[in-house]
Amino acid sequence: MDTFDLREGETANVGSLRELKAQAEHCKRCDLYKHATQTVFGEGPMQAEIILIGEQPGDKEDLAGRPFVGPAGAVLNESLSRAGIDRERCYITNTVKHFKFTQRGKRRLHSKPNAGEIRQCAWWLRSELKLIEPKIIVALGATAAGYLVGKAVRITKDRGTIFRPQNLPPVLVTIHPSYILRMRDRHTANAEQIKFVHDLNRLKEVLDQGRVGAAKSDIDRRNNHEPLHRMNCSANLFRSWRHARSRRNESNGSWKTQNEVHGQSQNCLARDTGQSEDPHEHEAAVAVLAISEARAL
Ligand code: SF4
Repeated sequence: MDTFDLREGETANVGSLRELKAQAEHCKRCDLYKHATQTVFGEGPMQAEIILIGEQPGDKEDLAGRPFVGPAGAVLNESLSRAGIDRERCYITNTVKHFKFTQRGKRRLHSKPNAGEIRQCAWWLRSELKLIEPKIIVALGATAAGYLVGKAVRITKDRGTIFRPQNLPPVLVTIHPSYILRMRDRHTANAEQIKFVHDLNRLKEVLDQGRVGAAKSDIDRRNNHEPLHRMNCSANLFRSWRHARSRRNESNGSWKTQNEVHGQSQNCLARDTGQSEDPHEHEAAVAVLAISEARAL
């Protein structure tokens, strides 16, 4: 699959998202419109700083005509909320605007869009990006990440990383929320959602601190110093850990107390920051350990 290039290719000649959406309702650029109920276009304000891009609408979205309104949308909403990000201020869309599925009896099973369909539908994504001009893009899952960042991206390895493609705003790579829904048990799902919130926390880091430029060092930083890479996402993540902990059976001894975690964080800091006394780093180290705790579930 080609990598998305915002500079190349034409875009719709419109001045608003409303006009763009109206045009997309009649799109026949590929065959996916033939079996889907309707075009499911993006939603959100044109002034959005954040644009979240999934793969394609699901069954519920196809029927409703709106993106991320099914179970995956509920997980996304909750995760954004836990990361302190207002969904209403984000623009949410998909790489492909029509639902592709295989009919099994009465059920319609998700089917991955192919490279040709994605390429054709890039007309709309490119037009959305040009109108919105977001400060950062979130690639939800492998399809969006692969197309925006490149084939080499791997969600398991690269999630939580902010890439800087030459032709696009910075791109934060993370999972698609439907991945959490496929987890076999609740504890694993909870742990995955904490990691998802952890990834989304990086958005605030970039937007709040105006440190979009700092993202360029992400890959080096991750390779050289994994704990430090995670240190800037502290407060919300720590709240997530406490939330998850409160939902776990308190009698289970695998969870450490907050004081024990703080104690471990000091060792973590001694090892990773050269005995730093910075309270912010200390709090961040607690968050690092919180993630370790969650992964141990
Ligand atoms: S999937 Fe995209 S390109 Fe294909 S018909 Fe739908 S809107 Fe058009």
